[in-house]
Amino acid sequence: MRQLEKIAEEIRKCGRCGLSKTRRNPVPGEGNPDSTLVFIGEAPGYWEDVKGKPFVGAAGRLLDEILEKVGIKRKDVFITNVLKCRPPRNRDPRPEEVRVCTPFLDRQLKVIKPRIIMTLGRHSTAYIFSKMNMKFYGITRVHGQIYEAESLGWKCYVIPTFHPAAALYNVNLRDDLLKDLLKMKSILETSEKT
Ligand code: SF4
Repeated sequence: MRQLEKIAEEIRKCGRCGLSKTRRNPVPGEGNPDSTLVFIGEAPGYWEDVKGKPFVGAAGRLLDEILEKVGIKRKDVFITNVLKCRPPRNRDPRPEEVRVCTPFLDRQLKVIKPRIIMTLGRHSTAYIFSKMNMKFYGITRVHGQIYEAESLGWKCYVIPTFHPAAALYNVNLRDDLLKDLLKMKSILETSEKT
């Protein structure tokens, strides 16, 4: 816990990239430091930037709804993003921002060492795939697949799915998101027994 708080403190003071000048509040991430499950999104949006917390806007409410449906409590998991500060007008993260910010994410993951990493959307999936030395061919092709990863430094499963923001106004994606989370839940339960 102390290590995660130390990382969060560094993030709050961080000025490594230009987003430090436009953000209101950095969003280090939050949740259970002993969680077996970590969700990784793209970057804070408007409400996350206002409140300094991850997934608190409309996309966050959808994620909460789906978590409830699969029987997972949000307080039991850890949720964070690739970038810890909001890009202006929610534009895509730039490669240079990802490069300078992701050491924070890497350190968070190393402390938590989750059994399952669920990547939400193309940016977090592309980043985690790059750590696994895997080519990323788009979220539509890889969502709901289960990848075993050891190259992160410990053994875990990586399960990509859609970003809840993309599923807000798309019923089909919402169904896919639910199915992917149900699959993840069954892996979580199986791996708990082994
Ligand atoms: S996005 Fe990351 S690297 Fe850039 S200022 Fe925020 S915490 Fe620092």
